[in-house]
Amino acid sequence: MPLPLKYCPACASPLLASELEGRKRLACSSDTCDYVFYDNPVPVVAALLEHGETVLLVRNKGWPEKWYGLISGFLEKGESPEEGVLREVKEEVGLKGEIVSFIGAYAFTEMNQIILAYHVRGHGEIAIGDEIAGVKAVPPDKLRPWPLGTGHAVRDWLAARGGWGPTVA
Ligand SMILES: [Zn+2]
Repeated sequence: MPLPLKYCPACASPLLASELEGRKRLACSSDTCDYVFYDNPVPVVAALLEHGETVLLVRNKGWPEKWYGLISGFLEKGESPEEGVLREVKEEVGLKGEIVSFIGAYAFTEMNQIILAYHVRGHGEIAIGDEIAGVKAVPPDKLRPWPLGTGHAVRDWLAARGGWGPTVA
């Protein structure tokens, strides 16, 4: 696997694989610099977007033909997760969103991300944004979770409404 970062962003010396506090880290090789690359997970916001009687799934440009997922994206500097998820809804499908509830936080370790998933209701007419190759409107009783990334939020949302998976009596 290629290193995520080769040179120190503080002094441009090479980074070296090191062991710090029992964890493998990339640390600056210079004696006069104490930079450590922590590679912390990046937060991503996702919307389980209800529109009319359907949930909208999107396929980003560059994704394989059959891949659809929740609307998602990175936060802009200074944005709250709630503001970020509503901005992504507007950008990706042109709808004005309203937050219904927070579904949960999910570690997406393969991507080094933490997904913050919201149930959002969308209002208005769908207008597909530049980054989107396709939109699929799925009735909730046809929606099935996928075992990766935002699929965990779909599973929990369906379970909470009694539509999928074990429900707590
Ligand atoms: Zn350095």
